Amino acid sequence: MVDNEEIVPKVWYNIIPDLPKPLSPPRDPPSSDFSRIELLREIMPKEVLRQQFTVERFVKIPDELKEKYEILGRPTPLMRAKGLEKYLNTPAKIYFKYEGATPTGSHKINTALAQSYFSLEEGITHVVTETGAGQWGTAVAFSSSLFNIESSIFMVKVSYNQKPMRKTIMKLYGAHVYPSPSDLTEVGKKTIKENHDHPGSLGIAMSEAIEFALKNKFKYLVGSVLDVAILHQSIIGLEAINQLNLIGESPDILIGCVGGGSNFGGFAFPFIGNKIGEEFIAVGSKEIPKFSKGEYKYDFADTAGLLPLIKMITLGNNYVPPPIYSGGLRYHGVAPSLSMLIREGIVKWKEYSEKEIYEAAKIFAKTQGIVPAPESAHAIKAVIEKSLELKKNNEKKTIVFNLSGHGLLDLTNYESMMERWS
Ligand SMILES: *Cc1c(COP(=O)(O)O)cnc(C)c1O
Repeated sequence: MVDNEEIVPKVWYNIIPDLPKPLSPPRDPPSSDFSRIELLREIMPKEVLRQQFTVERFVKIPDELKEKYEILGRPTPLMRAKGLEKYLNTPAKIYFKYEGATPTGSHKINTALAQSYFSLEEGITHVVTETGAGQWGTAVAFSSSLFNIESSIFMVKVSYNQKPMRKTIMKLYGAHVYPSPSDLTEVGKKTIKENHDHPGSLGIAMSEAIEFALKNKFKYLVGSVLDVAILHQSIIGLEAINQLNLIGESPDILIGCVGGGSNFGGFAFPFIGNKIGEEFIAVGSKEIPKFSKGEYKYDFADTAGLLPLIKMITLGNNYVPPPIYSGGLRYHGVAPSLSMLIREGIVKWKEYSEKEIYEAAKIFAKTQGIVPAPESAHAIKAVIEKSLELKKNNEKKTIVFNLSGHGLLDLTNYESMMERWS
């Protein structure tokens, strides 16, 4: 029996110093009337902001936080997908790191917990964020509950009304959940005044959360895209490396899905940094074609334009993503570090349609019993394609992918896909 202590890392890994080129710094647009970096300083916990800009390769995980990671059930399991291997009749070995095993059902809790901890460290007892479909909000709600602090979650109104289950979970954790637009902020009031039935959007919810945090001197937590979120998520890849070492496996191909890039980066960057593996595949949605159609340029990190410009692969911050079921992939850009690795050819990409990922999700559910989050099903589709390619060439390689979350709260989405395609 191996002690979990040996698997859960003591430090997070930061890929910034190991990137092929220095990262272009975040900045304000030329004619800006306020400093976005200054705004970050006001709304983010100090230590989180420091970590966002650090060039240290390793950042210590505080002991108290490590204890909380145990409550999450870390290390999460690294499992072999023998059912899927058998179904595909592939010579490839397929492993997956199962982030769906955390209490909140996805990887997002890994950074939510860290950011809540650093908020409390500086005496802040109330954190704020926005959420779309609810995965991020759920993570923030639970993390604040673990540290006995309060949380306010601005949830996009359509989701609030159409996906009441996540709202219920957040409330059980003790969070204040507000449908956005709300009448708690100027942005919200103005939006409602213009259109009483406004369905809300992530941009508006985020603007509300930031305004609310500023007004009340609460801290704002950021779910993805910023490098600090990837830093905290590196616990996934670091654990996976230890787990693979213990069973004497060395992976050749690493695969993950990409919304803003936090689960892919958290999973794959420690392998890239340690020069483990030969092929890295980031998977996005064909309906939100940022890899195939996006430009590499400075763009706002957020729809509302309140966060700084960052250099990344982007479809433009005005891009309105179509309403695909993978809510977590409905984002216009790709984290700066991941964008660079893609541009440099170190990380490859794939894009699949919703129908393709639905078929992949079905195969995985039938062969492994786990209903994957639709986001994670993008990675599974790439795994299946790769395995069949290896089969054709009779190559015995080892694939490891990150199963970023389970899909048990996405069943109504799967129901709709089923009605449409089978
Ligand atoms: C949010 C989410 C994603 C996408 O976000 P990243 O920052 O790219 O990881 C992927 N999978 C699940 C289950 C999510 O909740």
